Amino acid sequence: MNTWFLSGYTEEARSLSVRKPSNYIKTGSAALMFDYVPFFRDTLLKLKFGTQDRMHAMIQNRDSIVDWAREAVWSGWHVSCSCKIGADNDPMAVLDPECRVRGVEGLRVVDASAMPSVIAANTNITTIAMAEKVADIILSTPS
Ligand SMILES: Cc1cc2nc3c(=O)[nH]c(=O)nc-3n(C[C@H](O)[C@H](O)[C@H](O)COP(=O)(O)OP(=O)(O)OC[C@H]3O[C@@H](n4cnc5c(N)ncnc54)[C@H](O)[C@@H]3O)c2cc1C
Repeated sequence: MNTWFLSGYTEEARSLSVRKPSNYIKTGSAALMFDYVPFFRDTLLKLKFGTQDRMHAMIQNRDSIVDWAREAVWSGWHVSCSCKIGADNDPMAVLDPECRVRGVEGLRVVDASAMPSVIAANTNITTIAMAEKVADIILSTPS
């Protein structure tokens, strides 16, 4: 492993995400250089994140990985799967395949938490699609 990219949501990252022409130029040209000019990529990674020695030291030291995770990792904006749908024999499945809460009468959960695994798409439209699907199921279920 020779490339690493430990990132955090820093003030610098925040300011680069503001929509304005100078940021388009900065991020667009950096992305091009990053992809096509290995020297640029390697130098930038070294300047921003340190040398490979630091990476190798971290890999061998669990405490430094834990420290980094505590400092830099955050939940992001696409939290999901904390109350997942699953088969009857899945002990982690809070919900049955029609989003009924197992063991509770008359209660369903239909939101991003019901996703059985982290999706390879954005969560908003997927959550809406799940809600429409389960609304149809509820409406077609005789009461
Ligand atoms: C800053 C940000 C940016 C995002 N950008 C995108 C994006 O670009 N594209 C994308 O696909 N996804 C995006 N997401 C993720 C997306 O918004 C969520 O995955 C999606 O909204 C999840 O839907 P949900 O119904 O599970 O939860 P939510 O949309 O969070 O709905 C939960 C609702 O429950 C309400 N609520 C909470 N507690 C109570 C209570 N006790 N009583 C009554 N009501 C309560 C809340 O007010 C809220 O309205 C973003 C998320 C964030 C935070």
